[in-house]
Amino acid sequence: MLEFRERTIKISIYTSKCKECATKACIDACKKFARGILQLQDGAPSVAHLGEEETKRRGTECLACEYECWFRGKSAIKIDVPIEGLDAYLRKRGLASNE
Ligand code: SF4
Repeated sequence: MLEFRERTIKISIYTSKCKECATKACIDACKKFARGILQLQDGAPSVAHLGEEETKRRGTECLACEYECWFRGKSAIKIDVPIEGLDAYLRKRGLASNE
C-alpha cells in the first residue's frame, strides 16, 4: 500500500493490484495531465524519488490517476478529498449517511 498527500488530498494506492495491471495507466495519466509525480518502481507507482515535501509541492490534485485506474487499470487508487463544512451541510439537508 502506498499512501501520500498533496496539498489537500490523500492518495491511497493498493499496489498489490498493480503487478497484474498491463496498462500502468496511472503513470501515463500523471505525465499527461499533471506533473508526472508518479514513477514506476518494481511494477507499481511510486513517489519515493521525490520525498514528502516535493510530492506536495508538485502535486496538482488533478485526480487523473484515479480516473484512469478505474477505466484502464485495476481500480487500485482511492483519493480522499476533504471538503470543509460538507458533513454539516449534509446533516442540515438531511442527507447525511448513518455511519
Ligand atoms: S493504473 Fe492502477 S492498477 Fe495499474 S499500475 Fe496504476 S495504480 Fe496500479
